[in-house]
Amino acid sequence: MSKPTVDPTSNAKSGPAVPVNFLRPIIQADLDSGKHTQIVTRFPPEPNGYLHIGHAKSICVNFGLAQEFGGVTHLRFDDTNPAKEDQEYIDAIESDVKWLGFEWSGEVRYASQYFDQLHDWAIELIKAGKAYVDDLTPEQAKEYRGSLTEPGKNSPFRDRSVEENLDWFARMRAGEFPDGARVLRAKIDMASPNMNLRDPIMYRIRHAHHHQTGDKWCIYPNYDFTHGQSDAIEGITHSICTLEFESHRPLYEWFLQNLPVPANPRQYEFSRLNLNYTITSKRKLKQLVDEKHVNGWDDPRMSTLSGFRRRGYTPASIRNFCDMIGTNRSDGVVDFGMLEFSIRQDLDANAPRAMCVLRPLKVVITNYPQDQVENLELPRHPQKEELGVRKLPFAREIYIDRDDFMEEPPKGYKRLEPNGEVRLYDRLFRSPNPEKAEDSASFLDNINPDSLQVLTGCRAEPSLGDAQPEDRFQFEREGYFVADIKDSKPGQPVFNRTVTLRDSWGQ
Ligand code: ATP
Ligand code: MG
Repeated sequence: MSKPTVDPTSNAKSGPAVPVNFLRPIIQADLDSGKHTQIVTRFPPEPNGYLHIGHAKSICVNFGLAQEFGGVTHLRFDDTNPAKEDQEYIDAIESDVKWLGFEWSGEVRYASQYFDQLHDWAIELIKAGKAYVDDLTPEQAKEYRGSLTEPGKNSPFRDRSVEENLDWFARMRAGEFPDGARVLRAKIDMASPNMNLRDPIMYRIRHAHHHQTGDKWCIYPNYDFTHGQSDAIEGITHSICTLEFESHRPLYEWFLQNLPVPANPRQYEFSRLNLNYTITSKRKLKQLVDEKHVNGWDDPRMSTLSGFRRRGYTPASIRNFCDMIGTNRSDGVVDFGMLEFSIRQDLDANAPRAMCVLRPLKVVITNYPQDQVENLELPRHPQKEELGVRKLPFAREIYIDRDDFMEEPPKGYKRLEPNGEVRLYDRLFRSPNPEKAEDSASFLDNINPDSLQVLTGCRAEPSLGDAQPEDRFQFEREGYFVADIKDSKPGQPVFNRTVTLRDSWGQ
């Protein structure tokens, strides 16, 4: 576990390590050839959960490349599925992107802003004989779709006239039919080896309230009929997504080629970030929250950005981690130790030092005068003089770590105040690949029952009483800690352990 699976320097042929990002030369070439004068990228989350570490990778790729090449990035909510979406997620996502240190260009955008345009374009495709209303039930449609080894069959409704299709589609929109009764499909090729081209659904009926458009619509466009056109409307130059969308690219291009879109974005795919011991599926993270295996989306054991934030991870260390693992098209699993390495590096350089004994033992120095207190001055950080000094009282009664019990404590032990609660977080999953579990029951079986340990009665040096929420420290010999953003009260910080001083997992 101590050895990272990915060596951050292995990509560098000479000189300082430059993490490889295969998109960099593509963008450079597009700028050199004059194909684009400014690059525009976008980060397109669906607001159906909180952002996790995988999203951080996508954010760093999209915002990072735009920054590097003097371009801009849009934040666009990909909100085509009102049933699962919520304002709470929108707020959390915006706040997480800002916390990571990125700024989107202009207002926040929503794919739902383009629903009128998309609807007009759907009608154009119908008029061009390239889309039709299909009455097959979902079960029949599945049967007609064929399989990876067998071509699909044309639906008996495929050859409806343009007039009929316009009429059915208008009635779908008017709310005449229940959910699932009919769909609008693109007329492409039921025999295509690419299943995504077998007359994909463009619109489905869903009588649902939408967080942005209210009750205006009872038909909603599918992701594939939305994403590329939204990119085109916004003038996105490089539409960067993860590899599972590779087989959607021909469809992305088909819609752009068959519609009078104002621009021609191109889709590029990179491999998802997979981290061992970590869940990066919103659905499963939501299950952990809903079933109360954790205390909310921002529980410090969660792999969400808000969880990492409460745990004390810094935005810089997450950005650095995302850069150092590179951006490529080959699947792999990154060792969690790499992320921790990045956190330690940042905290070692920047976190003030403090004393806090987690498992204290009171020691009375009987030959030390009863009422005497000596104040020792210690630097807050060994390398950063500018952080100043802190005062540590030394007196007759001191606290030492139970593990350090000695009959005769050497001079230099400090008196520590009884303030503080610490919790210690460990990894939420025992198994390195918790997501691989076939069914959800066994992914939950992987939960580490000791992932949360609360220690009370810890003894901390007086200066820690002033710690503000999110102040980070190295507790000498114990690890890096952060004052909890939620549970700390004035004068009574509650500390979370961010990471141990050294990689000790599994030892
Ligand atoms: P989930 O499968 O957890 O619901 P998602 O990919 O559907 O995730 P979106 O909100 O659609 O979630 O994701 C927004 C962007 O983040 C997408 O472009 C997606 O490709 C990217 N993304 C999601 N997970 C990862 C990951 N593990 N690594 C890199 N990028 C990711
Ligand atoms: Mg998605």
